[in-house]
Amino acid sequence: MPGDLPPLVTALTINRLHARYATLFKSTDFPTITRKPPEILQVNPGYLCNLSCTHCHVNAGSKRTELMDEATVAT
Ligand code: SF4
Repeated sequence: MPGDLPPLVTALTINRLHARYATLFKSTDFPTITRKPPEILQVNPGYLCNLSCTHCHVNAGSKRTELMDEATVAT
């Protein structure tokens, strides 16, 4: 993960990727990707859930105990 790498390694990796994909993007007429303002804010205060959906992106369930503490909620 980039966050685990030293900053110099991360910067070099990003520069290499940018150079590689910049060339690729120059050779296509794919429209520019733009970002709209955020409309939804999702907060997962923990993994405890009364359901256990197979598609759950946080692997929540009734046996999970990890919950956000009050100090974190207050920040
Ligand atoms: S997707 Fe995950 S968090 Fe959402 S209801 Fe299913 S188990 Fe709970």
